[in-house]
Amino acid sequence: MAKVAFIGLGNMGGPMAVNLVKAGHQVTAFDLSVNALAQVKAEGAAVVSSAADAVAGADFVISMLPAAKHVLSLYLGEQGIATHIDKKALVIDCSTIDADSARKLGAALAEQGLAFIDAPVSGGVGGAKAGTLTFIVGGSDADFERAKTVLSNMGKNLFHAGAVGAGQIAKICNNMLLSILMVGTSEALQMGIDNGLDPKVLSEIMLKSSGRNWTLELYNPCPDVLPNVPSSNGYQGGFMVDLMVKDLGLALEASLQSGSSTPLGALARSLYVAHQRAGNGKLDFSSIFTAFEKVKN
Ligand code: NAD
Repeated sequence: MAKVAFIGLGNMGGPMAVNLVKAGHQVTAFDLSVNALAQVKAEGAAVVSSAADAVAGADFVISMLPAAKHVLSLYLGEQGIATHIDKKALVIDCSTIDADSARKLGAALAEQGLAFIDAPVSGGVGGAKAGTLTFIVGGSDADFERAKTVLSNMGKNLFHAGAVGAGQIAKICNNMLLSILMVGTSEALQMGIDNGLDPKVLSEIMLKSSGRNWTLELYNPCPDVLPNVPSSNGYQGGFMVDLMVKDLGLALEASLQSGSSTPLGALARSLYVAHQRAGNGKLDFSSIFTAFEKVKN
């Protein structure tokens, strides 16, 4: 079993770290939030008061932070931990960030003799808790193989997308599509409701028809259609609108760099930005459904 440092124990990182503990790894965790630390401590992880303490002697260093600025500052900032990491360790960043930042981090760590892969995930908080995440890895063949020791305890599907940065590109392609599907599912369900349909019945019909998709089946945005999803819990938990706006910004930047035409991604980004500006940034991204609802008088 491996010695693992885990930094960033939020909605995703917390349950991922707990799955490593359950698999028998020796996990040392750090987060800026005392509450997040307390939760993983209760599940058997060792907690420390700085990221530098967490990485001491670790075989794997895993980070799961909100955005690129947090990741770059953690490893390369003034109090960056790169110099504290053991040379034998593999650094795995699971956050969703831009590919350029992932490449910059990989190059800076390589200069210090450290191996790095980007390994963003798909599957949401449910997947993180169940240990069924999809990992999309950018890095060398050897580092991908090495990472399986820990990734296989947190996920079910492990993909090697290409060199460092490729995991991030694949991830934002996926999230751009996800946002488009969530908006489309929301407007279709609301149109059905406006025309007298029961959203549960409409969902069942579309699930057996050609409109079937992941958001409809496993993450239905209409409250009380599915149990145990954010829409049935006041849109709490899950994947925040703020983070979806970040990912759609990353997708837009990538499309500008590559000259790709992404009209629906651009529209989805505008809709999510408006939703965020209306005060919904901390809600789950399925709350875009409420933008289509009729205000009740
Ligand atoms: P979150 O905001 O719930 O968690 C982030 C955690 O990082 C917080 O606990 C915060 O305190 C901690 N943190 C921030 N800066 C830190 C630092 N310098 N040192 C230590 N801890 C620090 O976010 P999340 O939902 O867990 O998402 C994390 C990443 O995973 C994001 O990049 C997101 O885009 C991606 N992601 C999220 C989901 C999802 O469904 N939530 C799904 C796939 C990918």
